[in-house]
Amino acid sequence: MLPPPITHPIFCMSQIMSDIKSGIQYMFQTRNSMTFAVSGTGHTAMECAICNAVEPGESVLTAVNGIWGERAADMADRIGGRVNTMVAAPGVFFTNAEIEQALSKHRPVLFFLTHGESSTGVLHPLEGIGQLCLKYNCLFLVDSVASIGGAPLHMDRQGSGLDPATYPQPHWEGQMHVLSCLVFFCHTKIYFVVVFSGIDILYTGSQKVLNAPPGTAPISFSERACQKIFSRRTKPVSFCLDLSWLANYWGCDGKPSRVYHHTGPVTAFYSLRESLAVLAEEGLENSWERHQKVAEYFHTALESMGLKLFVKEKNARLPTVTTIVAPHGYDWKDITSYLMKTHNLEISGGLGPSVGLVLRVGLMGCNSSKANVDMVLAALKDALKHCHKNKM
Ligand code: PMP
Repeated sequence: MLPPPITHPIFCMSQIMSDIKSGIQYMFQTRNSMTFAVSGTGHTAMECAICNAVEPGESVLTAVNGIWGERAADMADRIGGRVNTMVAAPGVFFTNAEIEQALSKHRPVLFFLTHGESSTGVLHPLEGIGQLCLKYNCLFLVDSVASIGGAPLHMDRQGSGLDPATYPQPHWEGQMHVLSCLVFFCHTKIYFVVVFSGIDILYTGSQKVLNAPPGTAPISFSERACQKIFSRRTKPVSFCLDLSWLANYWGCDGKPSRVYHHTGPVTAFYSLRESLAVLAEEGLENSWERHQKVAEYFHTALESMGLKLFVKEKNARLPTVTTIVAPHGYDWKDITSYLMKTHNLEISGGLGPSVGLVLRVGLMGCNSSKANVDMVLAALKDALKHCHKNKM
């Protein structure tokens, strides 16, 4: 899909919003017309997805291999969903067979998965999962806060089981969600309709690979997701995040006029538009490749320093966030505070289930460069030399 046409100097907010919409469609590789940015951070988009897609009493399944699945489960529980979790140790991912088993057992209306698990450094494979969700009549919700723009993701096709590299680019307008060949008969003629299943709801945040200030969160809903949401029996509990309101606010509902819903964070919209233009200028494929090369360069250097990477499976290492096994004999907090004090560099410890297990280094967007890797490596070497090592 080609980068979107981004128009030049603009003074009208609705034009800025429409540029943002096409920028997000490009970043997500989707043709969903229900695509916009929520006013808020990644958590707000997560809540927007869940509170619209789930009605009280409905079954929800979340994949927990780090903190984000836990958060999604908490949100679904608060709105009255019947929440089930499938849990894996931090640092690993789920197989499609495990996912299918859980889908068939819990029969959820929504399945949540994190593509880039920033608390553990796992990049979760997505192929074939959309197809499984379709088989069990469930919407596929993916958190791409830490991965989009830094690792390949095609919302309309990924998850479908089709190889995004070989499958031809769509050349017609409209939605492609369901991988299935529907055959139906009409007046003695047989019709074949091929539709493809990808991700049904996808969201991210503005402050990761996009390098924009926090405060806006791109999100997109498939036709199948909209069908479920717009045929709800109950209103979503949140007025602010109600998709009917947001769809109109962003001009996604086809209605001729937009009704005031809330005051948009206009400066954040300007910066989001600019950051999407920067991504389109570099090109998604180039951005994915740069992140991958820089991550591999970093990982090799860490291993040659004698450090261990937390994610064993090479292909499942998130290019934007590297998790290093907390070096043996050190208190990880000594290392992170030394780096902050002496090098003005923020490296964090674990988060949620990975606390105490890892050091996490985020290199994403414009920060994903070999020069930055060299700087981090030099600072880490210095920290390991100077921090107190327990002799036990
Ligand atoms: N999901 C993932 C994978 C994240 O990395 C983060 C932020 N670190 C979030 C969700 C939440 O985003 P925010 O802090 O913007 O609310």
